Amino acid sequence: MRSSKPQPREIQARLRAAYPDARCALDHRDPFQLVVATILSAQCTDARVNLTTPALFARYPNAASLAAARTEELEALIKSTGFFRNKAKNLIGLGQALMAKHGGRVPSDPAELGALPGVGQKTANVVLANAFGVPALAVDTHIFRVARRLGLSKAATPEKVEADLCQAFPREDWIELHHQLIFHGRRTCDARRPACAACPLLDLCPTGLGQIKDPHLGVRLTLASPQASVLSPQAAAPGAQVPTGDTPKRIVSLVPSVTELLVQWGLAARLAGRTRYCIEPKWIRNTVPAVGGTKNPDLDRIRDLAPDLVILERDENPKEVADALTALGIPWLALEIRTVKDCVRALRQLGERLGAVEVAESRASALEATLTGRRRKGPRTLALIWKDPWMSAGPDTYVGDLLRTGGLAPLGPDRYPTLTDDDLAALSPELILLPTEPYRFNRRHQAELQRRFPDAEVRVVDGQALTWYLSRTELGLDLVRSFR
Ligand code: SF4
Repeated sequence: MRSSKPQPREIQARLRAAYPDARCALDHRDPFQLVVATILSAQCTDARVNLTTPALFARYPNAASLAAARTEELEALIKSTGFFRNKAKNLIGLGQALMAKHGGRVPSDPAELGALPGVGQKTANVVLANAFGVPALAVDTHIFRVARRLGLSKAATPEKVEADLCQAFPREDWIELHHQLIFHGRRTCDARRPACAACPLLDLCPTGLGQIKDPHLGVRLTLASPQASVLSPQAAAPGAQVPTGDTPKRIVSLVPSVTELLVQWGLAARLAGRTRYCIEPKWIRNTVPAVGGTKNPDLDRIRDLAPDLVILERDENPKEVADALTALGIPWLALEIRTVKDCVRALRQLGERLGAVEVAESRASALEATLTGRRRKGPRTLALIWKDPWMSAGPDTYVGDLLRTGGLAPLGPDRYPTLTDDDLAALSPELILLPTEPYRFNRRHQAELQRRFPDAEVRVVDGQALTWYLSRTELGLDLVRSFR
């Protein structure tokens, strides 16, 4: 766990890596369209505004036409954005003021802009920044929430939060930061359910780490709380070439859940490569280059990325990959995860190797603490992972141990056997789990199996929760325990 003291530079570096596409979400072509769209966006989503403005701007392309608008006609065009009577009144007033005082143009002077009908400080800042490139930091509901959760401000009003942010960040970064914080609030730091476990700022965030009460929800978050919210054969040899030395700065992860874990630990900036199956969090696909699949990664591509560490997992990646990396002189670290306790060990191993001991220990000890106590004897459970032919995850796999740890009785032969219809019938499962990956099981498969096993409970379940170790083990345990 890291210091709760705010670290603005590090926060912005990570936001930059996480949201390279951060920009103004309101469609506009000029300052006039932007000021109108921003007025409409009050108490309304940007997506809804973007659906409304094409027809609006076709009918009222400039200040002159807006100044002469008939109220009822304008109201009908903007009705879906909410508060349409007041917004229509402001828009007509805006058009008239622009014609009367500014020759029909939107002024770039903050005071003149702020004096226009319907334009408060927030709207003025949005227009100044996005239409005229003037450094400004408009604090909306997302920025207000995220800034306070990150400990960047303790203020109780948007104006004061804005002042704190302007003081903490260099003026030249304000425009970019404004968009990044909004993107972060929308995509990760949700008002009710912040995705702390997948957040690239977790180790910098006193709220996500549970050091302070969430200033928005008024409760202390934990990674296991509902708010905070792959399998196959052949392997890299365990205990093989585990490099030592400096903390790695260019990491290639060949394990999807490890890639997600590194982001959760705030190490996204150190990821130099990933496999094409490393797709969580989603933005990683835009920022970290792919190096092929988990079984057959492109070794030339990996070499070109000049990594100082490649992370593998025994079941995920074939032994030949580790051998080839050794031949290329590239350091690698192979994890071996077949049980939930292996996850505890691997978290500590990774934390030590990556110089992230505190955040790793915090996660490892929290997971370890959930493994104590008596296990109930739950239903005989078959976890299928493929169809045509049927394949299951056996009792000696990570999924099997997750089921056992969560109080269910895993069924079937060990490892990942193929099974005939007769094999399935002979196992007589009481519960059949159909994860949504690696095979995309769906309700049709569920109905098919339910017909064959009328006495069993057949459920389609979140494949990532069931099979992604380390980054989602806690979610997996919650899922499994819900069936006891
Ligand atoms: S760790 Fe959680 S509360 Fe903190 S910024 Fe990330 S999502 Fe928000």
